[in-house]
Amino acid sequence: MTFKKRTAIFLLLATSMMPLSAFLPLSSRPDPADSTVKNLIVLVADGMSLSQCTMARWYTGAPLALDEIRSGSVWTYSADSMVTDSAASATAFATGRRTCNGMLSITATPPILSTLSVPEPDFRMRPVATVLEGARLTGKSTGIVITCPFTHATPGAYVAHAESRHLQHDIAEQAVHGGVDVLLGGGLSALLPRDAAGSREDDENLVQVLRDRGFQIIQNATELSRIKHGRVWGLFSAEAMAADLDRPVLAPEQPTLAQMTAKAIDLLSRNDRGFFLMVEGSQIDWGNHAHDPAHAIVDLVAFDHAVRVALDFAKRDGQTLLLAISDHETGGFSIGNMQSGYSLSPETLNEQIKKMKTTLQGMIQRLAPEPENWTAKDLMTVLEERGIDVTEPVVRLMRDRIRARKPNPNQSAGRLLLEVVNDVVGSQDGSFGWTTYGHAGGDTPLHAFGPGRPTGMLDMPDVGRLCARALGIDLDALSERLFVDASSVFSDGELDVVPTRFVERRDKNGAVQNHPVDWTIRINAGRHVAELPVNQNILRLGGREILLEGVVVHIPKTKKVYLPVQAVRLIKQ
Ligand SMILES: [Zn+2]
Repeated sequence: MTFKKRTAIFLLLATSMMPLSAFLPLSSRPDPADSTVKNLIVLVADGMSLSQCTMARWYTGAPLALDEIRSGSVWTYSADSMVTDSAASATAFATGRRTCNGMLSITATPPILSTLSVPEPDFRMRPVATVLEGARLTGKSTGIVITCPFTHATPGAYVAHAESRHLQHDIAEQAVHGGVDVLLGGGLSALLPRDAAGSREDDENLVQVLRDRGFQIIQNATELSRIKHGRVWGLFSAEAMAADLDRPVLAPEQPTLAQMTAKAIDLLSRNDRGFFLMVEGSQIDWGNHAHDPAHAIVDLVAFDHAVRVALDFAKRDGQTLLLAISDHETGGFSIGNMQSGYSLSPETLNEQIKKMKTTLQGMIQRLAPEPENWTAKDLMTVLEERGIDVTEPVVRLMRDRIRARKPNPNQSAGRLLLEVVNDVVGSQDGSFGWTTYGHAGGDTPLHAFGPGRPTGMLDMPDVGRLCARALGIDLDALSERLFVDASSVFSDGELDVVPTRFVERRDKNGAVQNHPVDWTIRINAGRHVAELPVNQNILRLGGREILLEGVVVHIPKTKKVYLPVQAVRLIKQ
């Protein structure tokens, strides 16, 4: 009997298997005491630092909801860097495992930090189950609320498994087939084919898939307010939603983060078995990347309003654990800088933020796409709306500099505007400090409320493990149930992974290449040939189409495919 055959029979008969945890490095901290809750709400402020909570408090002139539940800190680092990205941190929050930057809910692969143990070859880049998948399979309702496209890193880690956060069409398909009950945010274009104003290269219409499965699809705040029950996906923009500061002018039909959070809780809490909800203040990070305090702080205040909504529910409910965390700090923000000295007043700093009427991101939307076409008048308007006093000759100089620059395909119009404006702001004696346009590696604040509330310093993966324990989920067992390495149960002759759709792309030399955008697994092992489209939860077998309890995952770098045990059993019957 071959190893593969034996493994297959073992799989069919075994009630317990070698846990993945035997092979994978886990966080070093012991598990806190067991205590399960009915509901779990995780609110993630992307890119928020403790200094920014302080600034938001000065800005609002009142205590934040976050202040009431501050309980500790989170040590944020990924498997391959002291500075994590959102994908690795969200993977830790969703799965309890530390992975490499850029990867979504799959295990780490070398090179990794010397302080960590190197994973065994068979357990590199393997999909691992998330608390959202666990909540769904234990009968709870699940929800995601964000202001970025739903395919971005933080939501992506909860709903998908991918070797790269950039595989957004794969992430979208897995999110749809994974069956999130309530999803509210941006990113409609990732659900639609190109001939329906979408961006999907595989030309699938995932909105239709959702409708066929009984989901309501909505697109504005009025429709959101009318939803009273059921499963709903609200996609309020093709890509990202507007920054909170910009929404009233640029996108008044979009709901706020607090409104989306309230609706999600209202819908999800009708399930007697409880729910899991992840809410992200997605754009605090973007404001920090752009050194735009108006974007970061105003979005942080909007996030705090969502925390207030969730906290009020948790207090009324009594069976809800609420965590409010940040995945890393961005920008290296400080109150005060090299020039500001010790005589800062809240009026000075608040004034600097309040005179900004539009975020830099909002500005970009109002300018011509080509920076060469920005006029001196355009730039003057930009600077005025940022509350910056400049003379016309200075603006003309800026415009000349933009026109004279060497074309750089890696520099977006937004980045260029940011750099030019920040050059000017830098000479205006602003009183905030920034140390990087990227992320920074310091601890982030931890906030918690409810039964089993954690305190003290948590290592990043502790958050995910704590969430799983709070919901009574065994993530190792769930990973084995959802993600069987197909090559461990089917022979090379039985298993085929075939590209089923191609798009033309130009390579570096301008030559047209056929690039695969869709894959299907074909297995010729039982009485019939089985087909499983990658990123979907569908098994086609003997003329039947069976909906599986999990999605099929393909990791191109390792050439491996993973499918639920349920599918293996059906195929081997
Ligand atoms: Zn982030």
